[in-house]
Amino acid sequence: MTFTDSAREIVASAVREFGSGLAVLSSFQREDVIVTDLVLSAAPGTRVLTLDTGRLPVATLQMIEAVERRYSIQVERMEPDPREVASMVALYGPDLFRESVPNRMLCCELRKSRPLARGLSGLAAYFTGLRRAQAKSRASIEIFDRTGPSVKISPLADWKTEDVLRYTREQGLPEHALYARGYTSIGCDPCTRPVVAGEDERAGRWWWETDAVKECGLHFSADGRAERTVDVLLREVLAHAASAPPASLSQ
Ligand code: SF4
Repeated sequence: MTFTDSAREIVASAVREFGSGLAVLSSFQREDVIVTDLVLSAAPGTRVLTLDTGRLPVATLQMIEAVERRYSIQVERMEPDPREVASMVALYGPDLFRESVPNRMLCCELRKSRPLARGLSGLAAYFTGLRRAQAKSRASIEIFDRTGPSVKISPLADWKTEDVLRYTREQGLPEHALYARGYTSIGCDPCTRPVVAGEDERAGRWWWETDAVKECGLHFSADGRAERTVDVLLREVLAHAASAPPASLSQ
């Protein structure tokens, strides 16, 4: 069985199990476009979702439009709460993620995790383009990860980079313009850079962080409960947002 047959079988199995409770979660990298292609072939009408953090590269916005045109679909944008983002920027500045790992995690929490949780709520399962070979942190991902509230399905988990390139070429799929500039993993504009030879595919994400500072420090709340620094920051932002006037997402 080829790697493509195997992925098709995984998609078919998911469609049988979850039916209309499925969606594709895409950031419009090659893997996501392949998964979209496989899923929409098997189950046209499946929702395609993306996180629009407000800090995406222009090339990603162009990719969204290219995929919408190719498949005649409307990609659903999940956006952060504008009031929360405005409060975070007011308290810590627009580029707070450069200051510390907890600041970066706070930004990701507000711009990604919280809108993602809202967007996925009610979904039985969703597809991703994750692959084990992309990074050490992904080496043991499950094809069907049933540990969360929605099942996370990664049909390309076993694919190698060459498989991705071959399928993209053979099917003539649209490709993100940043690949041609040395990027191998693409996220928010200020937090992604091209990689150099020998680095793993995700080395360009938050490149200024070193392994030594990947973990958050701990704070203690008034009642003595240990909290991660990012939780303290998040609580401050949410309290600020609760008392702030409505805001639009422009930061
Ligand atoms: S990737 Fe960077 S800009 Fe995007 S949400 Fe995370 S810290 Fe913020």
